[in-house]
Amino acid sequence: MYNASSTRYDNMTYNRTGNSGLRLPAISLGLWHNFGGIDTFENGRAMVRRAFDLGITHFDLANNYGPPAGSAEESFGQILAKDFGAYRDELIISTKAGYYMWPGPYGEWGSKKYLVSSLDQSLKRMGLDYVDIFYHHRPDPNTPLEETMAALDLLVRQGKALYVGISNYNAEDTRKASQILRQLGTPCLIHQPNYSMLSRWIEDGLQDVLAEEGIGTIAFSPLQKGILTDRYLNGITADSRAAGPSVFLSENEITEEVLGKVRKLNELAAARGQKMSQLALSWVLRGGIVTSALIGASKVSQIEDAVASLNAPELSAEELEQIESILRG
Ligand code: NDP
Repeated sequence: MYNASSTRYDNMTYNRTGNSGLRLPAISLGLWHNFGGIDTFENGRAMVRRAFDLGITHFDLANNYGPPAGSAEESFGQILAKDFGAYRDELIISTKAGYYMWPGPYGEWGSKKYLVSSLDQSLKRMGLDYVDIFYHHRPDPNTPLEETMAALDLLVRQGKALYVGISNYNAEDTRKASQILRQLGTPCLIHQPNYSMLSRWIEDGLQDVLAEEGIGTIAFSPLQKGILTDRYLNGITADSRAAGPSVFLSENEITEEVLGKVRKLNELAAARGQKMSQLALSWVLRGGIVTSALIGASKVSQIEDAVASLNAPELSAEELEQIESILRG
């Protein structure tokens, strides 16, 4: 029997999401890796429990997370049923549709047919009546944006999602999507882009649009899938994502050039009394531009590291300049 810690709200920071009424924890947990059918259920369960005990109220999923696709939602549904029955109103659960999920013309992209069917399937897998946030996972160049946004609006009106978001949309499409959603009466709550010291595309236009439109930002892979940690500083260990079956992080991405930068950043982190992973999170969350840093984890201790990063002092102007200089190479 799981009883959540009574101190769970004492140390977490909750940031307002754009112009909405919803506050999200500065650190959120994503279930992309390590929660699938191939993974150890009890490890995932322990991570979700520990995360919640530390004030992480937001858990991020997608229809296709696993592997196999769908199994992360199934595992999470089991965790909810076993442990979180009393806590549904304290959780912000998101899922998404956009990538390939089932064969035929209705199993991916952005049609109303696909989005409505996919969310129904996700709700069944998780054993939920509604999700808190439903995202369109990637832009679809062949479906009118009006149709995709109307599908998001419909799902809110049907009570299957409370809020909607978009992911991986560029600045121009984000502005258009936001305007359509506002006209429909379902404002775009949040955008989910990749953002880290090593992936800064959102600084080139998207961040301005999000600020102007009052949309929150949740930065996915803020540790650049593990590269911005001490994981790979002494080679690729067998239990790491790069060594595992995931096709989303190959050893080729972990070049000597990148590692050289991470080593220098790691020294800067140590001088601040932080781990490398904690510096990466302090950087993403600097200045309050990003609502939440959406981490992944393979162990409970990684979640503890992430939450502890919130106790560090803000990065000074000098430290930020040192980081820029290291990243420039
Ligand atoms: P991160 O960049 O946070 O990488 C997480 C990985 O970093 C962990 O699995 C672990 O790797 C390593 N790590 C974490 N903490 C530490 C630590 N303290 N010390 C050493 N290594 C550490 O995020 P993810 O790439 O996992 O993505 C996070 C979430 O973002 C996903 O779960 C998903 O919800 C979302 N996402 C969304 C996408 C979209 O298109 N919208 C795309 C990708 C992700 P290891 O396994 O090696 O231990």
